Amino acid sequence: MQNSEFTNKCPNCNAVMTHDKMSEMLICDYCGTIIKVAESDEVKTARIQAQARKEADIEKQKIESEYNARQQEINLKHEQIDLKKEEINKGIETIRTGAHMIDQGAQIANTASRIIKMIVALAAISVIIFVILLVGCIAKGVLG
Ligand SMILES: [Zn+2]
Repeated sequence: MQNSEFTNKCPNCNAVMTHDKMSEMLICDYCGTIIKVAESDEVKTARIQAQARKEADIEKQKIESEYNARQQEINLKHEQIDLKKEEINKGIETIRTGAHMIDQGAQIANTASRIIKMIVALAAISVIIFVILLVGCIAKGVLG
């Protein structure tokens, strides 16, 4: 019995009586005598205060555990944000590398196109020189 404690002696049989706090009664377990007892103001105040303290403690614990749960949620969110940041930074790095590669490719293409233009120009000059020489030879043959 959690709400019971041993206090008085039974006026009928002198056995120890059990104090039932819930019903405010002294009960003799031996002969069944029941005595109603009034709680003193001091006891009543102490009981109310103890109850209030207990409730406040429970409320405090509830708030603390809620706070801790929120804090854990916030920490988790922060970790997720950090991970996202890392991913974004990696993406930016990849884009930068890609842009650099495109730049290099464009430079190579530029150089190649310049070389091709030079080859075409050289070929054209060669053809012109060849034609001039040919015309010269023909002229020489006709004249001389
Ligand atoms: Zn008794």
